Amino acid sequence: MPFCVDCDRYISPGLVGHDQACPTCGRPLEVGALQERAEALLAEADDERLPIPWHLKLLAAGVALYLLVRLWQGISWLAN
Ligand SMILES: [Zn+2]
Repeated sequence: MPFCVDCDRYISPGLVGHDQACPTCGRPLEVGALQERAEALLAEADDERLPIPWHLKLLAAGVALYLLVRLWQGISWLAN
């Protein structure tokens, strides 16, 4: 989505003219700004990510194992 740096907002593509300018201030829009922002946010989140505690990993492994067992039970129930 086109983004205007001056207005600090996204412009609906329907409002943008053929010149790719902001309908409010007339500045050229940055079309790829959304992706750049998302990447910046992801990089930020990467920096702030905490190491996963071991009990959370254990819980995830248990849940995965449980789901696999239930899936297997479901498959054998269907097969019979
Ligand atoms: Zn603008």
